[in-house]
Amino acid sequence: MQPPEAGVVLVRHGELGVKSEQVRRKMEGRLAENLRAMLDSRGLSADIERRRNRLFVHTDDADAAADAAADTFGVVSASPAVTVEPTLDAIETALAAAAESHHDGGSFAVDATRAGPSDAHPFASTDIESEGGAAVWAAIESLGHEPEVDLDDPEFRLFVECRREAAYVFLEKRAGPGGLPLGTQRPVVALISGGIDSPVAAWKLMARGCPVVPVYVDLGDYGGPDHRARARATVETLAGYAPGEAMALHVVDAGAVVADLETGMGDLRMLALRRYMLATAEAVAESEGAVGVVTGEAIGQKSSQTSANLAVTDPATSLPVHRPLVATDKSEITQLARHIGTFEDATVDTGCNRVAPELPETNADIETVRAAEPDDLFERARACAAERSVVPIER
Ligand code: ATP
Ligand code: MG
Repeated sequence: MQPPEAGVVLVRHGELGVKSEQVRRKMEGRLAENLRAMLDSRGLSADIERRRNRLFVHTDDADAAADAAADTFGVVSASPAVTVEPTLDAIETALAAAAESHHDGGSFAVDATRAGPSDAHPFASTDIESEGGAAVWAAIESLGHEPEVDLDDPEFRLFVECRREAAYVFLEKRAGPGGLPLGTQRPVVALISGGIDSPVAAWKLMARGCPVVPVYVDLGDYGGPDHRARARATVETLAGYAPGEAMALHVVDAGAVVADLETGMGDLRMLALRRYMLATAEAVAESEGAVGVVTGEAIGQKSSQTSANLAVTDPATSLPVHRPLVATDKSEITQLARHIGTFEDATVDTGCNRVAPELPETNADIETVRAAEPDDLFERARACAAERSVVPIER
């Protein structure tokens, strides 16, 4: 929702403000670059103005530009706004116009802030709220509605941000993903199965600034082209959040390894497979300059992810394994997947077979798994990783 003639988007970021001056400047610069790339990727022409703790996006499509900002990591919120003179008269006029075009019943409130020295304006923020509120009241009456003020929980909220040089009137703070600008951290490898969890986990690391190197482990007879296509589709959606980054899907052929584990390892095969995947991820990380691995595991979600079994899989790599969903319920992960846009692709039926045995081990110990797994498991992981195919991701 935007006021008439909105020509600017106020873009707020959160955690950057608490960094040292030098780090903050660098991160703000990166945020502006990433936002530029996001706007370009959506064909939006706009000028980005950097100010302390804020970006101002000047554009003739404020609604679409606010959406682009709300999909950019590091952005806390974005407001399509109309710019007016920093006078009470001009603010009242803009508030009344916004109410006339958007109020459709229900209570309202005017929420004003004033930035700058105390003598920057001959009025206080409370004056904006009371005078502006009166203008909105009159506008609502002129629509034939019954005006009602509710300062705590209004159905219709109008915001004013008054600065020395201009005032901005807006109707919403569209939530962004928060976090840090993508590219402000070293990359990590993302183990992507194409299921619901792993793309969400990768997205969460991206939201902390880490570019991801997606790795899909092709399970041969237990995977198949539809399974791989599903993984790729989720990565394409993730790439939409990283328009400034080249992204490719690294596909590791594990068909032969899976077949061997299936015949040779009984109830422990899932654990050996997980260990193999982490070793593969580590090999890819080495060649791609990545410094960690992210997976979609959550404690107890599957037999291979019990707290005991995670203790068995973790030592397969010396890299840190990031599990941002470790304590998240499936329903919440699903909700996030819908929000991110990976849910639809992740839930297409691929008709693939189950690698997991009927009664998998849920309380394994590392010595038993080590003794049972093939001696050359990690060697094979490195060899498969070296022969991986790299599929560029179009967007
Ligand atoms: P997801 O967890 O992505 O929804 P899933 O639930 O089918 O898929 P799990 O069996 O829970 O997968 O696997 C746990 C984690 O291991 C996944 O979140 C993912 O990070 C990784 N993983 C599983 N299968 C693959 C695969 N074929 N290729 C790459 N990574 C995989
Ligand atoms: Mg899972």
